Parts: sequence; C-alpha cells; structure tokens
Amino acid sequence: MKTAKASSLAQRDSEVAQILSLEAERLASTINLIASENHASRAVLEAQSSLLTDKYAEGYPGHRYYGGCVYIDEIENLAIERAKKLFKAEHANVQAHSGSQANMAAYSILLEHEDTVMGMSLRHGGHLTHGAEVNFSGKWYHFISYGVDPKTEMLDYDEIERLALEHKPKLIIAGASSYSRIIDFERLRYIADNAGARLLADMAHIAGIIAAGLHPSSVPYAQVSTATTQKTLRGPRGGFILCDKELAPTIDSAVFPGMQGGPSMHIIAAKAVCFFEAMQPEFVDYQKSVLKNARVLASELQRQGLRIVSGGTDNHLVLVALSLQGISGKVAEEALGAVGISVNRNAIPFDPKPPKITSGIRLGTPAVTTRGFDTEEMKRIAALIGKVLSSSGDKRVQEQARQEVREMCQQFPIPGLA
Ligand SMILES: *Cc1c(COP(=O)(O)O)cnc(C)c1O
Repeated sequence: MKTAKASSLAQRDSEVAQILSLEAERLASTINLIASENHASRAVLEAQSSLLTDKYAEGYPGHRYYGGCVYIDEIENLAIERAKKLFKAEHANVQAHSGSQANMAAYSILLEHEDTVMGMSLRHGGHLTHGAEVNFSGKWYHFISYGVDPKTEMLDYDEIERLALEHKPKLIIAGASSYSRIIDFERLRYIADNAGARLLADMAHIAGIIAAGLHPSSVPYAQVSTATTQKTLRGPRGGFILCDKELAPTIDSAVFPGMQGGPSMHIIAAKAVCFFEAMQPEFVDYQKSVLKNARVLASELQRQGLRIVSGGTDNHLVLVALSLQGISGKVAEEALGAVGISVNRNAIPFDPKPPKITSGIRLGTPAVTTRGFDTEEMKRIAALIGKVLSSSGDKRVQEQARQEVREMCQQFPIPGLA
C-alpha cells in the first residue's frame, strides 16, 4: 500500500498549500496592528505542528485514561511547571483549548446558573465571556456590568465598589480586551472581599506583560487567573488557568472531564516552549519595546489630530476615537486595510454607533514589535494612518501609503516565516 509518508503538504494537497502560502504572503506584506495577535516563533510553530497531535491523553499527568502517555506526561508537566514558575502561581492548568474555554471552566466551579456576577461591559472594553447577551456567560449568569468613568475613560473603582456592595455578586471578573490602562487587581480584591465575592482575573491580553513584570500580576490577588498564550505571550493559540492550591483539584476537573475531552498535546508542547521563551531576559526587553512602541504610537497619533481614549496607554494597546474625523471604525478599518495596515474597528466607551460600525479602532504593538519595529517605525505608521484617514479615499495617497507599507515590511521579515 502506498502511504502519504514522504509527501509534503504541497505534494499531497496543493489546494491547502496554495492558500497557506498566500496567507504567509499576506502576513509578510501587512503591518499587523491587531492588538490580540502576534507572530509565534519558529520553535513554537514546530512544537505546534509536531506528531503529538496523534495522541489521546484524557486525564492529567500520572492519571490518564489511555496508555502510552509517558512522554506526554513529561511534556504536560514541563508546561505546568514553567507556567507556575513564570507567574509565581501555586497551580496551573494548561489544557484549556482557548481563553473562552478557560473562563467557561472557571465559571463552572465558581458559580451556579443564575448567580450574580460582575464584569466589565463589552461596550467599555470587556470580553464576550464577561456577560455579553449573545455569549453563554450572559445567558447562564446574571451579569451586572461595570465600565469606565465618562470623563477619564478609566475604570471607576469607586463605582465598581458601589455596584458590588449593592448587588453582592458571587464573583467579580477583572480584565479586558480593549482597555489600555493598568488594572488595579489589589483594589479589586479588596472590593470583592468587602462584597463577599471572589475575584477572577482574565489576563488574556496582558499575560505577556505580566510575565515580564511590567504590569502588576493578578496572581497574588485573584483566586483564579485565566489567560491565553497567543496574544502578548506570543505562543500557540490556547488557554490556561492559574489558581491557589485549594482550588487546583476543582479547576482541573472543571476543564477535564467538566468541559473538554482529550487535551491538544501538540498545543501543550507549544505552550511549554512559549513559557520557556517568556522566561528569557530577551522577552522582558521585547515587552518593554511593546509598551514603548504603544506609547510612541499613541502620542504620534495625537500629533496627527486623532483622539486617544483615556489620553494614552499603559500597555500594548491604543484605542483611537474617530469622532473628530467624523468617520466610523468600519470605514477606518477598511481604508487602512486597503493599504496593508491591519486594525480592527472597536467600540469606544459610550459609543453611539452599533458594534458592527463603531466610532473607534483598536491598535496594538505586539506583532509589529516581534518583527523588530521600533520608535522610528511607529512614527512612520502614525503618519501613514493620519494621512490615510484624512485622505477621503484619494487614490494617490493610498498608492503611496501602500508602497511605504510594502517597503517597511520587506525591511522587517516575520521571524517565524523567515
Ligand atoms: C481574547 C480574550 C479571551 C478569549 O480568548 P479566545 O482564546 O479567543 O477564546 C478572553 N478574555 C479576554 C479578556 C480576551 O481578550
């Protein structure tokens, strides 16, 4: 019998191979400012595409429901130990398939259906899983949303405290997807304690910044922290959960058998690589550059006449309000996309426009910083964004911008693709 043993993807399935190479080309020639994305290293990509994808390993190291797990156990233990060390956590679960599933598993042991929970409003920067009506969270639990102060556009902790004392939630969820300021986990734990609630920190976006010690960690304050590896951590697509020792057995059983069947062992291997990379001194330098680039981008965009929500940034993302320009987030996303600058439309606090249109765009620096972009490039990008958004579709401006994007991309190849 002939097997596909020696066939490369290109030989075996030219259709998929062709689409993959077009995507590689698109990535290579795009300035990626999507705040939740990054470019994983070669090492992460290799682990992720390894033969570990073949193995069923329901259960946990030392307690599997399948034979042949000796090396699988070694890999998962390595990932767990590295996550614990990196975040100074008592326990780590690395099996959650995604950030959303990490949240789902955590909620399932901290809450009963219909329980009252507090989370940041999606419209102010929270995540779908923090109580959006269309999401399981909004359907199964009774969410009270908190948001930012209309003047400062920063979290209003006094208001959060007032809401917590009024509604007595069982759980307060901290964390966001489009909030550019420090989150005060210590203060939120204090509020939670006073209200008789537990604190869950969803650090999906800022996990890499916390790992580098450049944002206060949630681990000393939140009973449970959930996260993703694919965003600032620059690892594979996946979730993980950190918690205190007492909650460890319940968190583990919430993920398996509670929520999931077999773990994705190739992804867990890539998570182990990601945690290893995040322990290296270069990773701290990288995160420092991510933050510096975000600050430069924000101030340069301000010079271009754009309004930055909350007036600046403390992390990797910049939320731009387009009200002064009189264009929607959707139009801006499309105009920038047409010249090879990838961003996403995003609601700004108190946005009058619907979620598919919005009045803002969200920009992030993790991916371009991985590529080696620095202060100079941030200035050039801000100038390009300013030009494109004020050009009202002028073809010459667009062509020039597209050319400059191409040049910058050629100068800085993506490490995982090179
Ligand atoms: C991205 C994100 C998640 C979900 O991650 P997925 O891996 O896409 O499911 C959860 N919470 C927050 C705050 C996020 O930004």
